Amino acid sequence: MPQRIVAGNWKMHGSRQFLAGFLASLTGDVLAKAGCEVLLFPPATLLPLLSAQAPDLGIGLGIQTVHPESQGAFTGEIAAEMAADVGATWTLVGHSERRQIFGESDADVALRALAARRAGLRTMLCVGESLAERQRGDAEAVVTRQLDAVLEALGDDLATGGIAYEPVWAIGTGETASPEMAQAMHAMIRGVLRRRSERLAEMPILYGGSVKPANAAALFAEVDIDGALVGGASLDPAAFLAIIRAMETHGNP
Ligand code: PEP
Repeated sequence: MPQRIVAGNWKMHGSRQFLAGFLASLTGDVLAKAGCEVLLFPPATLLPLLSAQAPDLGIGLGIQTVHPESQGAFTGEIAAEMAADVGATWTLVGHSERRQIFGESDADVALRALAARRAGLRTMLCVGESLAERQRGDAEAVVTRQLDAVLEALGDDLATGGIAYEPVWAIGTGETASPEMAQAMHAMIRGVLRRRSERLAEMPILYGGSVKPANAAALFAEVDIDGALVGGASLDPAAFLAIIRAMETHGNP
């Protein structure tokens, strides 16, 4: 049975003051008792602060991207080793904003996944098609190509991480894939993984794209949806907790 995960991607949002307020609203041991793994991907500036408190709260920590090299003249970049040094145990790779805005190719994404492995970080590999690709009928081919690029590089080692299926047209738009549509793609992804190995087929496959308390339960009821990668709603502690609770009550056993 794949691990169930609810993860928050804060993107380029958050200050020390915001973090203090966010943590203050996570009262008691609600996360420790969540029944799923809870991850946060804050901006890198907040990693050291969060890593001091996250383990006690039962939160796993990740960075949003890493540079392929471990050090060097790459102004503005952060190495996987540096993220690990300040407490990250996960990294996102291949988020659609990295692919679209920063021009990361499948090969670039694979290099970042290799860097994560080198530093001992678990990889949350984001895949997903654009609206134009879906309308052309290419959604499955695009997602398979994105998966294969990293599977070729990492093979079974990818199994320590997770996959986040995030249709680009659903990210930050308020549009969500219907549970049936998401389930169909998750099953396809599971099939691609299973053709490589049973270990890979056990990876958690998260759905991402405008997940909110109102739609989380229906998504989590689908058999191949093992959790969510949440953007906007993860900045609101009440909404994030409600999504975690939806996983507890409606996630697959
Ligand atoms: C994301 O950025 O990974 C994401 C899914 O964002 P949102 O939930 O805001 O659509």
